[in-house]
Amino acid sequence: MVTGVPYALVSLFKRFKEMQCEDISGVMRIESGKLGPILGITACTHGNEPSGLAAFEYLLREKNIEKELMCGTLYLVINNICATEKFFNATSNEEIRKSRFCDINMNRLPRETLHLTSDTRYEIVRARELYPVWKHFEFGIDIHSTLELSEPMIISRGGEFHPELVRGFPIKTLISNIDRIQIGAPAFSFYSSPESDAKIFAIEVGQHTDPSSFERAATCAVSLLENLSMLPSTKQSVAMEYDEYHIDDSIVFPDLSFDFIKEFKSYEKVHKGDLLAMSTNEKEIRATFDGHLIMPTSRRGTDKDISEEMAFISRPVETHRVG
Ligand SMILES: [Zn+2]
Repeated sequence: MVTGVPYALVSLFKRFKEMQCEDISGVMRIESGKLGPILGITACTHGNEPSGLAAFEYLLREKNIEKELMCGTLYLVINNICATEKFFNATSNEEIRKSRFCDINMNRLPRETLHLTSDTRYEIVRARELYPVWKHFEFGIDIHSTLELSEPMIISRGGEFHPELVRGFPIKTLISNIDRIQIGAPAFSFYSSPESDAKIFAIEVGQHTDPSSFERAATCAVSLLENLSMLPSTKQSVAMEYDEYHIDDSIVFPDLSFDFIKEFKSYEKVHKGDLLAMSTNEKEIRATFDGHLIMPTSRRGTDKDISEEMAFISRPVETHRVG
């Protein structure tokens, strides 16, 4: 069994797996009995990212959310049950790495996923199964973590950012527009019905099994519930400052002969024309504008997976202040 994850999360996962809500496993619906927002908190879109489960554990055990929810409806959802099961059963680092998904990355789904009625790949079937729950969300947050040690981030959807929802989040970096630049569609792009004005976003809370990532995920979940008046607020409203990195390009390697010219760090400044990667026969990939390299892969050499972006490029950072 995987090490470094508290047993409470293993047993909570087992409990969720057995749970059925609206005939769908891995979903818990908590009704306050009073009118209010419909909020969905989703975890484990990637199987090897248990921070969302840690947030569920905190809400259920510390916050007694099943009794204390003040208004509205809260959905707690394990998005990728198959991959999370693989993660908890993993006995080596290689198996942990492979537990990110079962058939395809749930954050790189085909845009037409909801219409793929005969596609049997697990993540497609699961997305279609979850859609009747996802579409209820008026507010939604998908909790992720990263392989590398990295600043926590808020990932906006559809070019919209809602500062009033993220007050109290211990995160000051906003990544915007990535959902429009990335390959395929992230799971959260299917939350709520298309005609609604739902407010949906994701967070990256830090490294996968770092206890501080678990804590940050729990703090964000509680803050969001407080900001929606679904839990009593304990915080004074304070001015908030955040740095926005607007993604406008990505780096994809055409084949395995490409590699970065050096070990880049996330947020590293790049200038238009800078050489970033090269192939063995000297084909070049250069920065297309001034900005920053975001989330460059640390997997180099023959170990890399070129089916996904190797990095993103953002416009120069802009700092915003919200009173
Ligand atoms: Zn993830």
